[in-house]
Amino acid sequence: MSVLEIPAVLNRIASAEAEGIGLLDDPSLLRDVELCRSWGYPLAFDQGRVRLARDPDAIVPVWIESETRGIAWGKTRVRGFFEIGSTNDEALSCARAGAAEGTLIYAVRQTAGKGRLGRKWISPAHSGLYFTLILRPHQPLSQWPILTHVASVALFESLRDLGKEGIIPNELAIDLKWPNDILLSGKKTAGILLETALGGAEAAVVGVGVNIAPESVPVSLSDQATAVGLEAGVPIPRRWLLVRFLKHFQNGYRRFSAGRFAEILDDWKRRSTMWNGVEITVTEGDRIRAAVTCGLSATGALKIRTADGNEETVLAGDVSVRRQ
Ligand code: ADP
Repeated sequence: MSVLEIPAVLNRIASAEAEGIGLLDDPSLLRDVELCRSWGYPLAFDQGRVRLARDPDAIVPVWIESETRGIAWGKTRVRGFFEIGSTNDEALSCARAGAAEGTLIYAVRQTAGKGRLGRKWISPAHSGLYFTLILRPHQPLSQWPILTHVASVALFESLRDLGKEGIIPNELAIDLKWPNDILLSGKKTAGILLETALGGAEAAVVGVGVNIAPESVPVSLSDQATAVGLEAGVPIPRRWLLVRFLKHFQNGYRRFSAGRFAEILDDWKRRSTMWNGVEITVTEGDRIRAAVTCGLSATGALKIRTADGNEETVLAGDVSVRRQ
């Protein structure tokens, strides 16, 4: 598996913004700058100095850190990669090694992006947003699944802000599908993957993958998946969306930390059309059943009524659901 960390020079150039940094006689710096350019960073040379344009699409660690000052976890600490297997896997190993709450792993491209139940999240370069946030929640483990709802609502609000703030010409048709998907015009556009590191490390990692540019949509899934840029018809600034997400997420996380779980689930329900009275199929291993949704449990699990009239609660870790 190839791991390619974003070189430190990018942060140096970004911090020096207007004046840029000099590259005179340092071939290793020049090599790193060329590497950043080849991964799409808008770097410009001028009389032996190099500058980075403050483009809201450019995912630059120090800019994310400065744009989220005063956030619920104190400071966001960003580790950026051009390429990595899975940002969740990296976050889990950082969490086990003691990384602080608010550490964010970001990748331009994932070579082994993960979905639930061992599935893959296809994550091509430059066209999506892939990151994982490390948290150290103090609430009981049984409530941690609600962090998926916190993240889903935060992503919903960030996407809505694109329209509200005139970054895109029209409002998006956003829906939340239990447990972890964000749909645009009924098609899957983003997914959340919550995982935990336990046995001493006690961390939750919240992974987010968003299809941004049209090329991020896997060809084999084009009838059921879409991208934010495809729905909006204009390019989407990725760092802007990421920072917006972190700000919305912290609001939900403050509620979570205060034990206000019902409010979080109500927020999620208000934004989803699927949790009550909708005919679905439920897949659990080889078993496929028809059911009707009938609510959420106190920990965010889905309540369903099956064909024989029984009510059951199904867990995000066990089943997939589809609208019939
Ligand atoms: P579920 O649809 O059951 O909620 P997951 O949340 O685990 O599934 O997401 C993994 C699934 O998402 C994959 O099996 C695949 O069908 C689909 N998928 C993978 N990559 C993408 C992508 N970039 N955009 C949309 N859907 C994707």
